[in-house]
Amino acid sequence: MTSLIAKLRPVRDRIETACVTAGRDVDSVTLLAVSKTQPAAAVREAFAAGQRAFGENYVQEALDKIAALADLRAQIEWHLIGPLQSNKTRPVAAAFDWVHSVDRLKIAQRLSEQRPPDLPPLQVCLQVNISGEASKSGLLPADVPAVAQAVAQLPRLTLRGLMAIPEPEGDLAAQRLPHRALCELLDQLNAAGLALDTLSMGMSADLEAAVAEGATLVRVGTAIFGQRRPPPAE
Ligand SMILES: *Cc1c(COP(=O)(O)O)cnc(C)c1O
Repeated sequence: MTSLIAKLRPVRDRIETACVTAGRDVDSVTLLAVSKTQPAAAVREAFAAGQRAFGENYVQEALDKIAALADLRAQIEWHLIGPLQSNKTRPVAAAFDWVHSVDRLKIAQRLSEQRPPDLPPLQVCLQVNISGEASKSGLLPADVPAVAQAVAQLPRLTLRGLMAIPEPEGDLAAQRLPHRALCELLDQLNAAGLALDTLSMGMSADLEAAVAEGATLVRVGTAIFGQRRPPPAE
């Protein structure tokens, strides 16, 4: 296997080039390495190559990995980016730094109630179904303002922004449209009095489009770690 240092470099270069093209500061975009289905050893290797923020999709797999990497816990930021059911909020509130996939108020309320008092507030994004496909999770854009106002009031959460997984599109121009829509929604929330700084959008295939439209955090899996293994049975 090519070393992860060699795999991270081109991804960082792509982000940097996209920032320069967009006239943005190269430090304005965080790379989240999506390590779902990858072993703890792969995370450790990426950590050794300087990577600090990791994204996971499957709660039990993530909890096992976080435990296996407990020696690095203070230096790693763990982000949950996969679907979250209400019966799994308690361990998530205790183990993660961020949750990007909050898609209803009830989940946010549980995370706030269950966030241990000795930890800083949990950082959260609302997941938005920006392409409007029936099958994907996420809030409908029209429902986002009311939910955002309610989540922003919860004491043990900090609402940071919005996350989306747009439908794959062929070319850059088409890829930019849903990312632009998410950015406009964030602007609308900030105009209504919120102070949100995070647009979690862009993956291996469309990070350039996302950065062009204002992404502050891109979630990249296969371009760093290669092909994924089959998802765990949960
Ligand atoms: C798996 C996943 C990614 C990473 O996708 P790649 O195409 O491998 O970069 C990003 N975001 C979410 C929500 C994911 O589930």
